[in-house]
Amino acid sequence: MKGRFRFRVLGSGSTGNATLVEAGRTRVLIDAGLGPRILAERLQDAGVDPASLDAVLLSHEHNDHAKGAVAFAKKWGPRIACSAGTARALGLAAEAIPGWDPVGPGAALAVGEVVIEAVALPHDAAQPLAFVVRHAGRAFGHATDFGHWTRPLVDAFRACDALLVESNYDPGMLKAGPYPWSLKERILSPRGHVSNADVGRFLADGLGERCRSVVLAHLSQQNNHPELAWQVAETALARRGRSEVELHVLTADGGGAWHRLADAEPEPARAHEQLRLF
Ligand SMILES: [Zn+2]
Ligand SMILES: [Zn+2]
Repeated sequence: MKGRFRFRVLGSGSTGNATLVEAGRTRVLIDAGLGPRILAERLQDAGVDPASLDAVLLSHEHNDHAKGAVAFAKKWGPRIACSAGTARALGLAAEAIPGWDPVGPGAALAVGEVVIEAVALPHDAAQPLAFVVRHAGRAFGHATDFGHWTRPLVDAFRACDALLVESNYDPGMLKAGPYPWSLKERILSPRGHVSNADVGRFLADGLGERCRSVVLAHLSQQNNHPELAWQVAETALARRGRSEVELHVLTADGGGAWHRLADAEPEPARAHEQLRLF
């Protein structure tokens, strides 16, 4: 369907991340952190033929984002797109995959009817990226696994119509929880993950006017509760008078819902053409 632009999360969190994006006739997967069989099943549950994907974008090499990518590409045929650092970390050059395309800050990638832009993220991986997927004048921003909000990320997200962002942990739960101190330090570091409060500050101070939908993803099962993440984000939106923004919190299986940016673009203004004729 021309003009359709929507996304559906197939997995979220440490058990595996993957988000399907459909725009016009183009389909891309952002991250493939589930095994190839589960990925194929969840695509089929969404009514999507796994062989119809145009590309698999990888944010970084960590297992919960990339472990199914190579096997999935070999079986179903999409090319992989990621940063050069992620490709090196995954050893893509030595894999018999259909191919990989570099994408990075300042090096947008066109795939079918979408253009993919990338923003560098502060995270303890080789060269991690956030993505902005553009189609027909609208934009979807996707960022998980980052330790803090950077100016380029806030700027890139300001022009997005819908966002998927991680809301990884509640600081109190993390500090009081069972993780070893070294792991707590990693999560809390500026190259770790963002907390509910970090997301709340962004929603209050950085969210762009055109954004209508925010999906909170990659919640820690140990160190967060969906209600807590939702409450912090909802409070921040309410404080800014942005209660029109739809807020969703994801479960590990993604929840099985489509999130729409647009069903169809308005027809190019015919009224203007007529005005010109007269
Ligand atoms: Zn992750
Ligand atoms: Zn990671």
